[in-house]
Amino acid sequence: MRKRWNMLLLVGVLALSLMVVGANQGISDVSASNGKGKSDVIFAIHGGAGGGTVPEELEDEYRETMKSALKEGKKVIDSGGSSVQAVEAAVKVLEDSPLFNAGKGAVFNTDAEHELDASIMNGENLQAGAVAGSRHAKNPITLARMIMDESPHVMLAGDAADQFGMQHGVKMVTQDYYFTEKRWKSLMEAKKKKAGATGHGTVGAVALDPKGNLAAATSTGGLTNKAVGRVGDSPIIGAGTYANNDGVAVSATGKGEVFIRGTAAVDISALVQYQKMSVKEAASKVVKEKLPPLGGTGGVIALDGKGNFAAPYSTPTLFYGYVTKKGEFKVVLSPEDEK
Ligand code: ASP
Repeated sequence: MRKRWNMLLLVGVLALSLMVVGANQGISDVSASNGKGKSDVIFAIHGGAGGGTVPEELEDEYRETMKSALKEGKKVIDSGGSSVQAVEAAVKVLEDSPLFNAGKGAVFNTDAEHELDASIMNGENLQAGAVAGSRHAKNPITLARMIMDESPHVMLAGDAADQFGMQHGVKMVTQDYYFTEKRWKSLMEAKKKKAGATGHGTVGAVALDPKGNLAAATSTGGLTNKAVGRVGDSPIIGAGTYANNDGVAVSATGKGEVFIRGTAAVDISALVQYQKMSVKEAASKVVKEKLPPLGGTGGVIALDGKGNFAAPYSTPTLFYGYVTKKGEFKVVLSPEDEK
């Protein structure tokens, strides 16, 4: 009898220790994430995942542009503006730069044209606005915001979206505005290699204002050599963008189809809201565990209402930056910068 008890005890102890090891492994997997967690963040941006390292001669320009976007977001918050105003302002800075795949620097589709996607979300009331396939908005993020504020809809697409923008005073440009030599070369290379659609340099922002309201925004030209009419995750609320004061604000970048199928952004927010996971755990779980088996890589920036921030990615790099409450600025262009 005693022998049986001893055996049972042994089996019990063994099972318990296995469980502890398993749980620890789960946690250490997450904390080994190359995207560092950070607290006291009020504003953050990203400039896309998977773009490899920045050429040395462009590094200063990247850092300066990202820093001015961060400054712009912080300025809005410091001067009493809302998190929604802050994310729009910062994304506009990135859209106006030829460095990023959004606005001015948008990639070419298979017909050598540009179709731009963007979305914005207010975490206070879950209002959202999005535009898919804009061909003329200088700042698609402003068009998305206008759709949120001035229409009863969440998303408008194509010519009708641009017409709506025009009627509401959103600045429009002709397609040649978006031309850059770099994107043209990428299209030519993709055509030569008969490569599928690829792209880097999508931009996004997340913000937390002093009232405790979160907001998120994302803007992109999509993927080089994408089919005409293709819409990625960036304008899809719940996939590329999401904000909920009870969860997190998220902006994603990566292979859009996978982020849509994996409902990436809303999953992260839901894990925080319902499972009480930390931002870092939730974001890593989706980016590193859920999405890769679906066939795609990328990264996100995620921020909760307490200022906890995470930027996990499954690509070699994610360009991102953040500002803390104390005014500490950080721009990350490679895992080296995170050390
Ligand atoms: N997610 C974007 C898209 O699929 C591309 C990117 O983030 O690089 O349109």
